Amino acid sequence: MAILEVENLKVSYYTYAGEVQSVRGISFDVECGETLAIIGESGCGKSVTARAIMQLVQKPQGEIKEGSRIVYNGTDILTMDKKKLRDYRGGECSIIFQDALVALNPTMKVGKQIEENIILHQDIDKKLVKQEVIRLLELVGIPNAERRRNQYPFQFSGGMRQRAMIAMAIAGNPKILIADEPTTALDVTIQAQIMELILELKNKLNTAVILITHDFGVVAGSADKIAVMYAGTIVEAGKCEDIFYHPKHPYTWALLNAVPKMEWKSKQLLDTIKGNPPDLIVPPKGCPFAKRCEHCMNLCLEETPEYTYFDNGHQTSCHLYHPDNQNPKVEFAYGG
Ligand code: SF4
Ligand code: MG
Repeated sequence: MAILEVENLKVSYYTYAGEVQSVRGISFDVECGETLAIIGESGCGKSVTARAIMQLVQKPQGEIKEGSRIVYNGTDILTMDKKKLRDYRGGECSIIFQDALVALNPTMKVGKQIEENIILHQDIDKKLVKQEVIRLLELVGIPNAERRRNQYPFQFSGGMRQRAMIAMAIAGNPKILIADEPTTALDVTIQAQIMELILELKNKLNTAVILITHDFGVVAGSADKIAVMYAGTIVEAGKCEDIFYHPKHPYTWALLNAVPKMEWKSKQLLDTIKGNPPDLIVPPKGCPFAKRCEHCMNLCLEETPEYTYFDNGHQTSCHLYHPDNQNPKVEFAYGG
C-alpha cells in the first residue's frame, strides 16, 4: 500500500531574478516500509521536493503551486490544519538533514532536544521520558547514553551528531523518514556507518525511507526504487535493479558513468557530465537535458518528451523511445 502519493507536484521559489520553477510537475509514490532514492545533481529539485513533503515550503520565499497533491495515508497534507500538521511533521514523517550542526540547537543538551520530540509526538508517562531518551540514543549506536544525553552538540563528533539527529527524527515513530544527503558532510568511513544505521532502523521500525542523494554509490544496495531528477522533473524512475542494469535515459547513463568502479586503474578519470543544467527561471522548450545530451535530435529541442513505460513501473521521458523514432536505439554501456 502506498503511504505517500505525490501527484503533479510543482514548487516555485521567488528570487530577485524571478520565479524559479524548482519542481515542475513530478509524481511518484512510496509504499510502506520501502526505500525510494531520489537522485540528481544539486539544484535539480530533490531537496525542494523533500521540503514540500515536510510542508516546509513557506510563502513568500516559496510556494507549492495549485494542482499539486501530497497525499499521506489518504489525506492531502496541503489541506491539513495546524494541529494535524504538527502531528504529521515529526510524528508521521520526519527528516534528517545533511548538517546536524545546523539542525540541532547548539545551546540545548542533546538529551533535552530528543526529549522534546518524544513529548510532542508520543503518548508517554513523564517519568519514562528519560528512559526513552536513553533507549533512542542506544538504538542509534551512541555509547554511554546516560552520560551523553547531558552533553551539548559541540561535544559530539560529526558522526555522533548525525546519530543524535537520527534519534531525534525517530523519536515520534515516523512512518516515513526523509534523509536529505545524510552523509555528505561526513568522512567516507562514517558515511557508510550512517547509511547502515538508517537501513537498520528502517527494518527495525518498518519505516519508509526517502533517500535524497547526488551519488549513485550511496544508492546501490539500499534503495528499492529510484527516481532520477533533472531540472525539476523526474526523467527516469523504476526499481533499483532496472535503473542500475537497464537504465534508459541518457542523463541516468551519465550519472552511472560518474560512479567510480572497483576494477578501474587508479589513473582512469571519472566521466563528468559536461555543461550545466538549464536556468529554471526560463525552463527550456523541449527536453531539459537536450543541451548536454549526446543523442539530442531535432525533436528534442522542440517537444518535451512524454513518459514511455517499460516493465515493473520503469518509466523514462526521452524521445529515444518515441514510437516514431526511426533511429536505431542507443544502448547503455558502463564506461561507454
Ligand atoms: Fe537526449 Fe533527446 Fe532523450 Fe532528451 S529526449 S535525453 S535530448 S535523446
Ligand atoms: Mg540539496
